Amino acid sequence: MTPSVLLIYTGGTIGMKTDPATGALFPFDFKNIYEEFPYIHKLNVEIETIRLGPIDSANVTPELWVRLAELIRDEYDRYDGFVILHGTDTMSYTASALSFMLENLAKPVVFTGSQLPIGVLRTDGRANLITAIEIAAARDSLGNAMAPEVGLYFHNRLYRANRSSKYSAEGLDAFRSDTYPPLAEVGVSIHYNTQYILCPSDRGPLRIRTKLVNNIMVVRMFPGLSEEIFRSITGLKGLRGIVLETYGAGNAPTSLWFLKALRETIARGVPVVNVTQCDNGSVAMERYETGLGMLQAGVISGRDSTTEAAVTKMMYLLGFGFSSRAELNKQLKLSIRGEITV
Ligand code: ASP
Repeated sequence: MTPSVLLIYTGGTIGMKTDPATGALFPFDFKNIYEEFPYIHKLNVEIETIRLGPIDSANVTPELWVRLAELIRDEYDRYDGFVILHGTDTMSYTASALSFMLENLAKPVVFTGSQLPIGVLRTDGRANLITAIEIAAARDSLGNAMAPEVGLYFHNRLYRANRSSKYSAEGLDAFRSDTYPPLAEVGVSIHYNTQYILCPSDRGPLRIRTKLVNNIMVVRMFPGLSEEIFRSITGLKGLRGIVLETYGAGNAPTSLWFLKALRETIARGVPVVNVTQCDNGSVAMERYETGLGMLQAGVISGRDSTTEAAVTKMMYLLGFGFSSRAELNKQLKLSIRGEITV
């Protein structure tokens, strides 16, 4: 049977073309997708399209994540896979969030976009779009999806969504996944690294979780961060969690005021997750004195999580409203969708 894919357009550069009169870029009407991309007819895939947006991804909020999760839930049985066209700027956040929100996912959900508008001759959007559709539709000889998880496809590589980050504002290879190998690599053919792809859960039908708590803060350490500023952040009314971007293997100052502020914050029930500012490697707070103090203060290691994964995982887990702090901390430390190497 011909596989079917739902193509969901949310916005971003990929959906733009040039106005011949002014030369300016504008979003084209996605209803006319077959006029714009007649070649997608040639794929042996039944494609239906739906538009949510267009929205520049800099304006994306968790509301879009909820709409996407609900749409996938509602259409889940009708399609073999889903492709989501999204602006590149915050694509890794949306894709990471969806990886958590879609529970028991057993079908591919592939995010893609482009650095150059699809209406530009040299666009990277055409190849990204075609291959993302192929990946979303791909099955093995037994009819099982080749990549049944939330992925991000860009410039010849399929990444696990919650391991990806936008790394270049200029290059066509705009995304990277420095702590996890690509799920698929594309050359003359598409090579799936099946040993790195999640096995679909057999825990039951797809479920979505849409309660997200976004009263959280990302704090990036820098030499000179003052006590006054740090305390004004940790003391914020309504703050529910902090993702702390530290140096190297999870290091930060040993100043008494800093560690005291962390202890007090954690004692108030606000979890603090430590991720590294480095693209590669992992937090190991026990390695240096500059990490040990944080470990003793109750800071949770985010190990090799990206900031995007740590932020969206925290939003997702806070939404559970766990009755005990210990349970929340336990979940934060676990790998729940392959986002962290444990
Ligand atoms: N600003 C655009 C967006 O993220 C950039 C892009 O799509 O590449 O929506």
